[in-house]
Amino acid sequence: MSEKSKNPSTLATHVGEEDDHHGSVAPSIVMSTTYRTRPGEAAFSAHEYDPDRAFLYSRWGHPNARMLERKIAALEGVEDALATASGMAAMTAIFLGLLRQGDHAVVSNVSYAGVGEISHEVLPDLGIDVTHVDTSDPANIEAALRDNTKLVHIETPANPILRITDIKAAAKLAHGAGAKLSVDSTFATPIATRPADFGADFIMHSMTKYIGGHGDVLGGVVAGSKADISKLRARAGVYFGATLAPQAAWLAARSLHTLPLRMGAHEASARALAEFLAGHAKVERVIYPGLASHPQHAVAKKQMRNFGGMLAVTLKGGEPAIARVLDSIEVITHAISLGKTKSLAFFVSTDELQQHAFQMPGQQLADYRAIAGDGVLRISAGIEDPGDLVADMEQALDKV
Ligand SMILES: *Cc1c(COP(=O)(O)O)cnc(C)c1O
Repeated sequence: MSEKSKNPSTLATHVGEEDDHHGSVAPSIVMSTTYRTRPGEAAFSAHEYDPDRAFLYSRWGHPNARMLERKIAALEGVEDALATASGMAAMTAIFLGLLRQGDHAVVSNVSYAGVGEISHEVLPDLGIDVTHVDTSDPANIEAALRDNTKLVHIETPANPILRITDIKAAAKLAHGAGAKLSVDSTFATPIATRPADFGADFIMHSMTKYIGGHGDVLGGVVAGSKADISKLRARAGVYFGATLAPQAAWLAARSLHTLPLRMGAHEASARALAEFLAGHAKVERVIYPGLASHPQHAVAKKQMRNFGGMLAVTLKGGEPAIARVLDSIEVITHAISLGKTKSLAFFVSTDELQQHAFQMPGQQLADYRAIAGDGVLRISAGIEDPGDLVADMEQALDKV
């Protein structure tokens, strides 16, 4: 059977695990930093490196990273992947791998805070121009493209208001302008969406979230064509040293075995919470891609096979009511981060994001506020029993 004919659950459990030593069925952790070599086989230049040939030195690549990269590439339906030390390292690998002084990038005006801050602060320091737009309307991407645009970066669903961008439309526009499209697919995971099927060139994940899934491993990954990834590997892996360590790679690869199962459970929990909250008298708005009320539900249906585990909620009592809920939840944990087996909830303030990550001008901010108000209660629905999660929110809302 070819990899192409296999389904995600089979790929997640098997790919990359064929040739472990000693006949072991479960993969081992290989801690060696250097590998035996033969005359003429090893070279010091990153340009000579091919991860499918022998391993040389673990900053360049090692068996546990390779196993993980092959699994991700198979799940995303692309040729190759680069595992990195964190999601931010994956993002930096794309930005600094592709963009040069004098280049221009179009970046979603709603994105993970670290990505927003890098694109507002670090890229301009390097002489790279960035235009931030609401990418959920492809016309905004089109209007922002310039002759020197090299990259369009979108996040779908976008943190924290689950805004959806039409990947196919974004890819067509980027390619028409001679730019690449990168997609932060952390919230979707390859189980919900395979961005390459819609034309994306680079797919990145914070593996710290759903892929690791248990809240105990930091990691990131970029997936794409073999040629594109080998360029990023030379810069980010070999030069910047963003390589993922063997234990972390092993744990992330192990966690991938259950990703398809976990995503089913995350979605069931999120849907139960979304439906309960949408009908609650103290709730103003529920934003969940799987609800018909989501502003881009039609696009979500086209590109998501699973609507994911994240939802954002605004309450009629505003921030004080959200604070009361966060004080009262018992099963759901008040903590940042997301994508864990345990449910987490956190208040994301619009003002704070505006100061640091978004820095949106007038109309863009007004449009955002119309959806998110002064801030949202972001819930990462875990894999606990959906009824228990609903009961927990019900008792917490009773205290508002
Ligand atoms: C967490 C996150 C990141 C950053 O990943 P780290 O692993 O924390 O470095 C990037 N994008 C999104 C959407 C995230 O949720």
